[in-house]
Order: sequence, then C-alpha cells, then structure tokens
Amino acid sequence: MRTVPGATKHVVVVGAGLSGLSAALQLAGRGRSVTVVERHPSPGGRMGQADIAGYRIDTGPTVLTMPDIIDESFAAVGASMADHLELMPVGPAYRATFADGHSLDVHTEPTAMAAAIEEFAGPEQAAGYLRLRAWLTRLYQLEFDGFIAANFSSPLSLLTPQLARLAAIGGFRGWERMVSSFITDERVQRIFTFQALYAGVPPRQALAAYAVIAYMDTVAGVYFPRGGMRAVPEAMAAAATGAGVQFRYGSTVTGLERRGSRVTAVHTEDGDRITCDAIVLTTELPLTYALLARTPRRPVQIRPAPSAVVVHVGVPAVGERLAHHNISFGQKWAGTFDEIIRDGVPMSDPSLLVTRPTAGDPSLAPPGRDLLYVLAPAPNLQVGKVDWDSIGQDYAHQMVATAAARLMPGLDDDAQILEIVTPADWGRQGMAAGTPFALAHTFAQTGPFRPANTVRGIDNAVLAGGSTVPGVGVPTALLSGRLAADRITGADNDPSRKPTIVSSGSR
Ligand SMILES: Cc1cc2nc3c(=O)[nH]c(=O)nc-3n(C[C@H](O)[C@H](O)[C@H](O)COP(=O)(O)OP(=O)(O)OC[C@H]3O[C@@H](n4cnc5c(N)ncnc54)[C@H](O)[C@@H]3O)c2cc1C
Repeated sequence: MRTVPGATKHVVVVGAGLSGLSAALQLAGRGRSVTVVERHPSPGGRMGQADIAGYRIDTGPTVLTMPDIIDESFAAVGASMADHLELMPVGPAYRATFADGHSLDVHTEPTAMAAAIEEFAGPEQAAGYLRLRAWLTRLYQLEFDGFIAANFSSPLSLLTPQLARLAAIGGFRGWERMVSSFITDERVQRIFTFQALYAGVPPRQALAAYAVIAYMDTVAGVYFPRGGMRAVPEAMAAAATGAGVQFRYGSTVTGLERRGSRVTAVHTEDGDRITCDAIVLTTELPLTYALLARTPRRPVQIRPAPSAVVVHVGVPAVGERLAHHNISFGQKWAGTFDEIIRDGVPMSDPSLLVTRPTAGDPSLAPPGRDLLYVLAPAPNLQVGKVDWDSIGQDYAHQMVATAAARLMPGLDDDAQILEIVTPADWGRQGMAAGTPFALAHTFAQTGPFRPANTVRGIDNAVLAGGSTVPGVGVPTALLSGRLAADRITGADNDPSRKPTIVSSGSR
C-alpha cells in the first residue's frame, strides 16, 4: 500500500463531516497532532442540522446502519461509543407500502421477517428470503475486509482468491437478477433492491456486489440516536476534542501552499495559515482538484449520482400509524429510474421515503406534533431539465399530498412545511451536479476504478469522503476516513484500538 513518505506529525483535515471526523479520530489515536478546519459552525457536513419553529431537523441521512463501524472511530482514541451516544434499534427497519394498498414491515430478526413475508406472499417467498439472507450475509463477509474496507494499490491488486469467491457467489452479476433468483414476488424483491438507489444506480443495472447495502439495513439492522442523527457527529467531535484534536469551525479553506510535491500549509478565507506535514481533504472532488491544482486523467467521464428533493414537515402527532421509516412505492418502478437518471425529469409516479424521526425521539418536535422527512429521488443538475426554483414549492406540496394520500389520508390537513431542499439547493451548497450523493456506484466508479484517495504527483495529500473509496453513505464515509488515516500512518494493527465487534449478521 502506498503511504505518505516523510514527516506526518501534524495533519490538517479539511471538513468535519463523517469522513473528516473519522480520519481525525484515527490519526489522533495513532499519535498524530490533528487540526480539523470546517467552514460550518458545527460538525456533521451532510449529516446536517437545522432548528426551525421548535423542530430539531436532521437534513441528511436518516437510515443509520452498521454501528460497529461508528464504534471503531471511538475505539481509535480509546473511547467507547456507548459512553458518547445512545443508539436505539429501529423496529421495523422499514414499513414498505405498495400501490395495491398492501404493506409489509421489514424486520431484521429472521424468524419475524420470514413470518411477515409468508403472510404477505406465501411460504415459498419466505423460504426464498431465508436463502437470500444467507447469501447477503456471505456477500458481506466476502466483501468487507478485502474490498469495502481496503486501500487498493491498482486494479491488479483486486485479483485475489477472494475476488474469485465473490464472483462464484454472483457478486458480479446484476443485483436485481440475483435477488430474483431467491424471490419471485416483485413487491418483495423491491425490499431487497431499492437500496440500489442509495448507490445511485437502477437496481437492474447495479452490480450484485452492492447488495451489501441491503445486508446492512435488512439484515444487520437500522438504528437511531437519541437527539437525532446530529448526535453522531457531535459525539465524534467531542471524543476527538477529548483526544486533543483542534477544531476550527467557521473557517473556509481557500488555498493550499506547496513546496515541490508536498502541501506545506492551508490558507483560509479569514487569512489564517496553518502549516501541516500531511493533509486529508474531504471536500467535493472538483474543489479538491482545484485546491491541489490537479486535473485527473480518467478514461471515462465522471458520472454523478441522482439527486433528491427533501421536504421537512411538522404534523399533528400521528403515533404508531406511521413507522419510523416508510417506503411508499409507486406503481411504476423500472420506468421511474429512466425518468430521473436518463430523461432528467421528476418521477411521474413517485416512490418516496417518509421518515418520522419523532418515532425514535419525540423531543425533536414540539409537544403534540410529529416531524416528518419526505425524500423523493430526483434528477441531478447534469441531466436534469427542471427549473427547481420555479417548481420546487409546488413539487414539495405534491410530495406531501402524495405521501398523505398513500400512507395516512388527512395527514396533510394541518401540515406545516418547514424546509424544502431541491437539487438546486444542494448545488448552491457546493455539491457537484446538485447531488448530495456524490458519484454513482457504476462499475467504472467502483473500488480501484473510483477516484483514488491518493493524488498523483502530490505526496502528502490524501482524500476521504463519498466521492473517493469506498463510496457514499454513513458507514462508507466513516471507512474512508480510516482508509485515509492508513495512507498516512500505514495500517493500524493495534488491537487495543479496535472495538469488540459482535457480528451483526449472526442475529
Ligand atoms: C439528504 C441526504 C440523505 C442521505 N441519506 C443517507 C442515509 O439514509 N444513509 C446513509 O448511510 N447515508 C445517507 N446519505 C449520505 C451520507 O450522509 C454521506 O455519504 C456522508 O455523510 C458524507 O460524508 P463526507 O464526510 O463524505 O462529506 P460531507 O459530510 O459533505 O463532509 C465534508 C465537509 O467538508 C466541509 N467543507 C467543504 N468545503 C470546505 C472548505 N473549503 N473549507 C472547509 N470545510 C469545507 C463541509 O462543510 C463538510 O462539513 C444521505 C445524504 C444526504 C445529503
């Protein structure tokens, strides 16, 4: 593995998102002096926060999986996640509702899920689910160490016996095709394939290897932190501060100073100059390359992931009638992906993710109210033919009306729209192509073919975050921080800095 040569005593991390926080904790735990420079006043980045009209809103991720990986960040500095963060299991993980009016609760406990599927679609589908679950678990076991949590030297470094084993179980076939070999009911298939959208690729085109995302939420389980998702970066930042990491919030990096092939200092908008021996950049790829004055040489053009419209809504308390995570599938499915990815138009029959964070922590809304987060996948600004500033308001009202009509008629009667975020808004926040989901996980943007975390011609700059390896999402952003730290210090094999892992798949 290529690592940073020479001194690495003081490392500057640009960005206090999850990848930056993870890198900072890993580096501090390995004896480096670390300064994190963040343009916003608080940590979290895309795992963002907004306080509006008495509601405590999480603006980014809602589906939290793989707490073992979060714990690993705390363990890096000898801390424990349990001392900083209260994570509660979310059950059911999702409630899926279909256009035919039926719904299915997704349980992560196998017997409960098999029983739910048997009642919903019959015993053959339930038996298929148990075989699919075993396959997803095997996929995860095969991929985790060798591919997801690994630094690659070159595409050739992929050629291992593990690759052959992954190929043998169908990892390089289509995701949808593999799932349909276990389950024939099209509605049940969707429960285990819709996550392809998280990877930015339609299920029928996604590699089966990415079905590990379905392992993460449907097998390993979904969690929610008390205090909302923002509690995760806040806890990580507190542990990092405790380990001596310096944070400079409200400080935007505008330039890097170089001597030969090394970055020697970071310049901020306020005129500060922070010297460094090495740097971790978690910024968006175009900004990263601009700061480093580098143009990547890629044989194929970079493909951004689809984007999303998110609407935050306050409603009168609905209680258990809405689960924590509700996926409302439209009738259309394959055509939906064509609309947002190929044609650049909003979904004509939308599938929506409706999250009720107040199911996990009622204190996130004023008394007697619930907070809802409605997400509709949408075209990014590269393919999109939408003037979001003109139609955003109407589109948001339609999303809420559709969610209400499908999930709970009357839900929108006293709905208070608190905030609307469209692809144009993500673009204004500096996200390339107006998407918060970075680069699509196509084959050409996977593993050693994804933009690497090292930069040709610059010895001491390492990248982390969603647009480099391993990719987009909370667990992967955290892993990318660890992989960046490994590039600086070499892999850390000290068992005292590892959490005690209870295998999630064994439940
Ligand atoms: C709406 C939405 C829903 C999502 N849903 C899920 C989900 O349910 N589950 C899941 O696992 N993942 C989800 N994700 C993805 C996940 O949130 C991200 O992949 C992850 O948080 C990205 O972390 P990061 O560190 O790569 O980037 P970021 O969080 O963007 O961190 C980069 C940081 O760098 C800072 N920065 C940028 N430029 C500068 C500069 N010049 N100077 C100083 N600081 C700078 C930024 O302010 C930011 O804090 C979602 C994301 C969004 C936005």
